[in-house]
Amino acid sequence: MKITRCGSQPSAVGPEEWFMGRVRMDPLFAVTPPSRVAGNVATFEPGARTAWHTHPLGQILIVTSGVGRIQRRGDLIEEIRAGDVVWIGPDEIHWHGASPTVAMSHIGLQEWQNGTAAYWLEQVSDEDYDGPVKQD
Ligand code: MN
Repeated sequence: MKITRCGSQPSAVGPEEWFMGRVRMDPLFAVTPPSRVAGNVATFEPGARTAWHTHPLGQILIVTSGVGRIQRRGDLIEEIRAGDVVWIGPDEIHWHGASPTVAMSHIGLQEWQNGTAAYWLEQVSDEDYDGPVKQD
């Protein structure tokens, strides 16, 4: 058993090649073999988002505050809110981020394979980010 104390791991800035806008990354836990899963908290300022990317073994997002957006390539944008849980399947091309006017934080849980948990593609254009949102 291992307890990682709050405050023991510094916050980081989401790197520009993987994110657009202001994104803070707070690590929760790294991979501890034989487990493959790692976790972090990502906080997106309004308008901030990831680049398009995939996860080799999928990803779970648990939205902990605010209002955000997520889109799978070829589908409409979906609005996500605090309390929502999202499963992203292996190799699904997608992005996630804040809404245009409200920040969003989520816990991300992803399993590593061959030394990575994500494969990064191009940035999300303003046209894609401002695209139609699915209405329930
Ligand atoms: Mn993702």
